[in-house]
Amino acid sequence: MIDLRSDTVTRPTPPMLAAMSAAEVGDDVWGDDPTVLRLQATLAERAGKEAGLFFPSGTQSNLAALMAHCGRGDEYLVGQQAHTYQYEGGGAAVLGSIQPQPLDNAADGSIPLERIAAAIKPIDDHFARTRLLALENTIGGKVLPAGYVTEATQLARRHGLSTHLDGARVCNAAVASCKPLAALCEPFDSVSICFSKGLGAPVGSVLVGSRALIDLAHRWRKVLGGGMRQSGVLAAACLYALEHNVERLADDHANAAHLAAGLEAIEQVTLQSVATNMVFAQFPQAHCAPLEAWLKARGILTQMLYASRFVTHRDVSRDDIDTFIAAVKGYFAAR
Ligand SMILES: *Cc1c(COP(=O)(O)O)cnc(C)c1O
Repeated sequence: MIDLRSDTVTRPTPPMLAAMSAAEVGDDVWGDDPTVLRLQATLAERAGKEAGLFFPSGTQSNLAALMAHCGRGDEYLVGQQAHTYQYEGGGAAVLGSIQPQPLDNAADGSIPLERIAAAIKPIDDHFARTRLLALENTIGGKVLPAGYVTEATQLARRHGLSTHLDGARVCNAAVASCKPLAALCEPFDSVSICFSKGLGAPVGSVLVGSRALIDLAHRWRKVLGGGMRQSGVLAAACLYALEHNVERLADDHANAAHLAAGLEAIEQVTLQSVATNMVFAQFPQAHCAPLEAWLKARGILTQMLYASRFVTHRDVSRDDIDTFIAAVKGYFAAR
C-alpha cells in the first residue's frame, strides 16, 4: 500500500529492528536503562538543552511539559490550530487543571504578537494566571518564521511567561531551513520532539529543557502512567532514527513538492499549500468519498476530505507519488 495519510505510518526497517534487538536495557523507572539515558543525553545535547526525558507519545510529552510549567488555575496561550489544543483530548484542562487560552493562528501558523500581548491577563483574582506561551513548529507542515519565534518568545519572557514548543516535527523544520536543531530550540524553555513521525521510529518522543523543568516533568510522567521499564528497545529505534533518518527528511520535502506540482496540474483540484512534508488540497466535495475508494482499490490510502492532507515519509517514494497522481488523473478521466 502507498499510505499518504500521515508520516506516523512508517514501519521500522530491518536495520532499525536490529538496533532495537541489540539494545542494552535496564529498568528505566529505576534510572537503569543505559540506552534510554543515552537517547535523552544525545537529544538534549543536539537541542542545546540541559536534559531530556523519554516519553511513550508526543501527547504525553506535551502534557507533562504543560503540567511542569503551569499549576492548577494557571493558563497557557496556544494557537487555535495547535495539536496540544485541538488533538490531545483537552488533556491540559482535563488532567492538568490548566485553562487553555486559544488564539487564532495566522495563515503562516504564527500567533500574531498583538493577539498574544492582548491575551496576557493582569494579575487579578478574576483571571486565571497566564503562565506559558506554547507554539508549534512545524505547524500544518509550515516552518514558523525564525524572526517571529524570537519576537514571540521575547514578548512572553518580558511578561514573565515561560515558553514551550510542540516540536513534533521540529527536525523537518531544521532540515527545511538548513539550521541546526539547537537553533530552533534555543528560544524555548522546553521542546517536545517526536520520533514516530517522519523519523520513522515505531514509538517515542523526547522532552528537552532545563534540568529543573525535566525533574518536574519526570514526576508528571510517572503520574500520567508514562514510566516505562526496559524501554531501551524503543530508545534504540529513536537513536537509530536520529543517526540515519534526519538528513533524509529533505527527500520527503522534495517528494511533497513533487506531489503538489502533480495535483496542481489537475483541473478539478485546488492546491492550498505545500510545506515540508505536507500538502493540502481541495477536491470537489462530491468526489471525496468515491475518489478515496477508487484510490484504495488501487493500493493507495488517503483521507479525502474537502480539505485533504497528503503527507510524505520514508515509506513513500517518488514513483509512489507518480502512481498516486496517475490514479487521481485516471479517476477524473473516467467520470
Ligand atoms: C503527532 C503530534 C503530536 C503527538 O502525537 P502522539 O501521537 O501522541 O505522539 C504532537 N504534536 C503534533 C504537532 C503532532 O503532529
